[in-house]
Amino acid sequence: MATPEQKRILVTEIPGPKSVKLHEQRGAAFAAGFGVSLPIFVAEAGGGIVVDVDGNHLIDLASGIAVTSVGASHPEVVAAVQAQAERFTHTCFMVTEYESAVDVATALNRLTPGDHEKRTGLFSTGAEAVENAIKIARSYTGRSAVVVLSHAYHGRTLLTMTMTAKNVPYKEGFGPYAPEIYRVPSPYPFRWVGDPDNVAQEAFDQLVDVITSQIGAHNVAAIVVEPVQGEGGFVVPPDGYLPKVAAFAKEHGIVFVADEIQSGLGRTGTMFAVDHEGVVPDIVTTAKALAGGMPLSAVTGRAEIMDAVAPGGLGGTYAGNPVACAAAKAALEVIERDDLPAKARRIEQLAKPRLEALTGEDSWVGDVRGRGAMLAMEFVRPGTTEPAPEAAKKVAAYANAHGVLTLTCGTYGNVIRLLPPLVIGEDLLADALDVLEAAVATLA
Ligand SMILES: *Cc1c(COP(=O)(O)O)cnc(C)c1O
Repeated sequence: MATPEQKRILVTEIPGPKSVKLHEQRGAAFAAGFGVSLPIFVAEAGGGIVVDVDGNHLIDLASGIAVTSVGASHPEVVAAVQAQAERFTHTCFMVTEYESAVDVATALNRLTPGDHEKRTGLFSTGAEAVENAIKIARSYTGRSAVVVLSHAYHGRTLLTMTMTAKNVPYKEGFGPYAPEIYRVPSPYPFRWVGDPDNVAQEAFDQLVDVITSQIGAHNVAAIVVEPVQGEGGFVVPPDGYLPKVAAFAKEHGIVFVADEIQSGLGRTGTMFAVDHEGVVPDIVTTAKALAGGMPLSAVTGRAEIMDAVAPGGLGGTYAGNPVACAAAKAALEVIERDDLPAKARRIEQLAKPRLEALTGEDSWVGDVRGRGAMLAMEFVRPGTTEPAPEAAKKVAAYANAHGVLTLTCGTYGNVIRLLPPLVIGEDLLADALDVLEAAVATLA
């Protein structure tokens, strides 16, 4: 099947009649606890376009939440999946081995920051990668405490849900939560209550204070940070924060974990978001963009830390599935060969000035931020920092109705995030930005 025509085409209302009917059927079959950003049913997708069952072509500013960086049907990923599925779909890497898993591990050891000796473990989901990073850090250090940030998102399993900051919808009703998780303030410049020119230092001082006065540094196994916070609202830590935290962790024998599940593999304009400041984490978690849409995640870290767990201590039936590994080899090759980090920088160059032009004294757009193709607008009541989730919802609804698939995020639900596939065409991106500008104009 060819990549769909790379053009926004609306032939019905959004959602169209076929999607509406299917969505009704869904309600009778599928658990209600799964939300949906836009209830259209997809027929095909690729490049920067999603085609629904009614024949509408929508511009994709979501990438299935930062997954399909190479597009949702990249021909090399498709061919790799087909070829592997014909050979075998599964053996379980803990039962008998296959080369592609070793190849993916080798590639991640090379691509992640730092030239020290590394090891990688493969899993299936992002949450599983974070869980395993904690298991490994605890095993290596013999300590139990885990430090995370406000506005953090690390997944939906018991441990990672506990590490996630936001209550509704991620935690409400699901307690009791896992023990030994401690939270420190995120260096969130737009909402910082202290000195706006000293956010990195003040946030770092608070981290040190919480760790030394409430936990004891010698009890901390890991500090886990998203180098650009994802679900929390695309919060970019100010320069200096991550290097300070990494140095503090090192000084106290704490494992510094960068959760690069959303920000990694080219999305922010460098291979990893920590590369913007030359920070070398002890452990990096990846998932989302890793396998071109197939479920695969990884924990990559210093060999002595990773190998602290004895054989049998890590694994999973589907961990490092061979079809997913074949897809990852193809996706990683595309990301490197076609220099998708450069594409992400180009997207920032094209989109950020246009978004920034929407801010101003009497604008509902209070802040524009992000790196590379991980960009966001935060909506507030004009002239204040009071969150305006209704404005974000209105803009997203307008964009969706006009054929641009957008996602909201943020602790206060007032952020619209742009996560286009890194392969999106420049005309398509410009068209999507026209629609977003028109959407913001409706707020005036
Ligand atoms: C999405 C995400 C996760 C969880 O990944 P799943 O595959 O949904 O389990 C963890 N951390 C970050 C930063 C994420 O964006």
